[in-house]
Amino acid sequence: MGNGAITGNRLTQGALVVGLSLCVGVSQADPVFEGHVVFSGSATYPPHQWLDEDGEAQGFVVDLENMLARRGGTEAEHLLVPWEQALQAVTSGEADAVALFLSEERNKQFDFTEPFYYVPHGIFVDDDNSLLGSLGDLDGRRVAVVDGSYAEKRLSRSHPGIELIHVGTERACLASVDSQDADACVEATHIGRQYADEFDITQTSAPFWPRPYVFGVRKGNHELVDWLNQQLTLAIADGAYGEVYYRWKPELEREEATFSESLRKVTWVALPFSLMAIFGWCFSWYLKRVVASRTRQLTQELAERRKLQDELTWRAEHDCLTGLYSREKFIADLDVFLASENGRPSTVVLIRLLNLEQIILMFSYQAGHDLMKRFGERLEAMDFRQVSHFGSGVFAAVLDQKIRYQNIVDHMTETFELDSISLDAQVVMGVSINQADGLIDAEEMVRRTMTAFSAASKKGKTWLIYGPELEPDPNDLFLLQEFRRNSTRDMFLVYQPKLDLTTGYIQGAEALLRWNSPEQGVVSPERFIPLLEQSGLVTEVTHWVVEKAWCALDRLQVHERSFGISVNIAARDLMPGSGLVGLVEEMQSIRKSHRICLELTETSVIEDYSHAYDILDFLRSSNVSCAVDDFGTGYASLSYLSKLPIDEVKLDQVFIKDMMRNKQNYSIVASTISLAHKLNLTVTAEGVEDMETLKALSDMGCDTAQGYVISRPVPESKLVELLGRPIFDASRGGFYKELST
Ligand code: C2E
Ligand code: CA
Ligand code: CA
Repeated sequence: MGNGAITGNRLTQGALVVGLSLCVGVSQADPVFEGHVVFSGSATYPPHQWLDEDGEAQGFVVDLENMLARRGGTEAEHLLVPWEQALQAVTSGEADAVALFLSEERNKQFDFTEPFYYVPHGIFVDDDNSLLGSLGDLDGRRVAVVDGSYAEKRLSRSHPGIELIHVGTERACLASVDSQDADACVEATHIGRQYADEFDITQTSAPFWPRPYVFGVRKGNHELVDWLNQQLTLAIADGAYGEVYYRWKPELEREEATFSESLRKVTWVALPFSLMAIFGWCFSWYLKRVVASRTRQLTQELAERRKLQDELTWRAEHDCLTGLYSREKFIADLDVFLASENGRPSTVVLIRLLNLEQIILMFSYQAGHDLMKRFGERLEAMDFRQVSHFGSGVFAAVLDQKIRYQNIVDHMTETFELDSISLDAQVVMGVSINQADGLIDAEEMVRRTMTAFSAASKKGKTWLIYGPELEPDPNDLFLLQEFRRNSTRDMFLVYQPKLDLTTGYIQGAEALLRWNSPEQGVVSPERFIPLLEQSGLVTEVTHWVVEKAWCALDRLQVHERSFGISVNIAARDLMPGSGLVGLVEEMQSIRKSHRICLELTETSVIEDYSHAYDILDFLRSSNVSCAVDDFGTGYASLSYLSKLPIDEVKLDQVFIKDMMRNKQNYSIVASTISLAHKLNLTVTAEGVEDMETLKALSDMGCDTAQGYVISRPVPESKLVELLGRPIFDASRGGFYKELST
């Protein structure tokens, strides 16, 4: 049997790891005892030793004793009883050894092995007494201790001021603190901590009295001490001790986990949650980013859509060129306004820029657009309730105050200064007043204004107020339907002779159209020509008239070689695509005679000046002469007209009719004749109804005269009778027929 010697140790809080030098050459299983080794111990000293519910011995010391006995080739028997009895069992020989704290008192009764474990003590108190942190604090206090324990012995010896409460077991020790029978208890930390949770008791002191834990054997039993030391040394060396220790370590130490262990534990428990949390956080971050970016995108899209919608709404409600309200918006607002006025009279005006097309053609689109803009601005500045541009130079406005209509026209026709050009707007205006007697809606009101406006245009007036009499005659519609059915079938020409005031001969005639409608009887050209013009049907009629007149000319020239026929040409006949040029070319190729004169009105020439110029130029080169009809009713000056390739001006009836009574008209006629001659134009006076006027015209040097005093428009057969002989004596100022009677 070899010896072992303690070579060093290392103390940690509440536990001791023992390092022993190895005893070489000792047999591992060298039975010393016959039978078994009896170890006594406390029945209530967990985790070192205790009896479980089935009466089985359990604990670290029990396992250690079993292991040591097995190593030594024997068996361990456990006698677990109250602590005092356990100690006595060894001294009485009932047991061989007992595991206990090494102390001087016990040295008298026991021999000891090397320590195999170290245990400190601590003060345990109820939470309310948590200030008892040191042995000094316990002075005068009731402190529970286990009978026969190291603590009992040491406190009674060195701390006489402490009132010891003696109990049987370590659990009872803490129970007495819990029940307030003791203020504190002092016992080994490992066992105190064992029950602390159960009673809600806390260790309030730092560990003290680290005591070696040893086996004590009956005094003088050296053989057992050696044997136990040998088994301990071997077990510590080969790890068997460690196995037992680590199996019980959690119970023995019950130490508060170190930070790193806690961290490790927390980490292991928390890791999955942490990972999930991190994943969740990442995912939520990603989602947030996706949502944020999508939200940004959506916000942007929404903003763009809103912008587009606003733009579309603006476009739907406004005219892009002038920025004024569109027709639709005007109508909608007018409806609201009319409803709010509740039958009170309200007025709408419609103004059209008449010479817009002409300005565009003469200058540029830009000039036309600028004029429309400025026109709109000027209208807006006039304090109307609302102003709108329906398009193509048609403006509408609602009036909510009294204003003279002529003032509107005057203001709107004042010269516009656009960049380098000055432009005069020509306007025509329709007015509609919603009288209190009957409520009408906005559409109807605008329609009535348009009716007034087109009636004003037809009548050559600058403005007109709507009245039922301006409504188009339904008979006009029937007439148009009839024309579509029968075309020129029921039309025929009459001729109004033109007297040459110098020679006294009828040297020409104006072809005038007649329509003998089966349904409406004889219809005046003054009614049906404008109707056909508005419906775009007049060109068809013009072609028919030109053909018929040219045909008649062939026949009439037989009677008068220098005879010519004038044909009325509508404004539309001068527009591109009317086929007038082709018709003239065709007629010239098939007809012998060429003395055809085309009568054009001032406005038809001016409206499309450059195109009209080209046509007139062509006509002159084709030996077809041109006359400006109804001269004096428009705005064109003679000098302006003379720039066109024309041959004749026809002074309108309004100047002629009363020229003998109206000095102003007399002088207009006289000066026009004089100026026209200077410009190399011949002059025809229309509507001469009396001899006095005819004579005066003759005296003035007027070239040709036309009128009832000479002849009404007559059929070709009647006209023939007037040809080939002089009928007027200019020197005497009378007709031969009358002069001869
Ligand atoms: P207009 O070209 O000025 O023709 C002269 C009109 O004055 C004719 O009326 C004629 O009958 C009338 N008239 C002639 N002398 C007198 C007179 O001394 N006193 C009065 N009070 N009236 C006189 P009409 O035939 O009814 O024609 C009216 C208008 O119809 C014409 O005016 C002309 O603008 C248009 N028109 C007639 N025929 C044609 C045609 O074939 N084509 C086109 N485009 N227009 C035509
Ligand atoms: Ca005429
Ligand atoms: Ca005329």
